[in-house]
Amino acid sequence: MALDWPEELLAILACPKCKGGLDRLAEPEGFGCRNCGLFYAVSDGIPNFLVEEAVPWDPATRRGSAGGAAPARPR
Ligand SMILES: [Zn+2]
Repeated sequence: MALDWPEELLAILACPKCKGGLDRLAEPEGFGCRNCGLFYAVSDGIPNFLVEEAVPWDPATRRGSAGGAAPARPR
């Protein structure tokens, strides 16, 4: 279940490791740091901002193959 986070809250959220800005992700739900490449998962609506439990994340692929501006090229 995705929660609606107020913009004001999102604006002050920062990566606990590097203090960089976080991107909110819907699938999987959580927050990704573009600066140091860590992903903080949200479970049961509660974000887990423990650096030790964050997982590596690649900002370049955060959108995956779906929902991007450009669909897969036809062959
Ligand atoms: Zn970071």
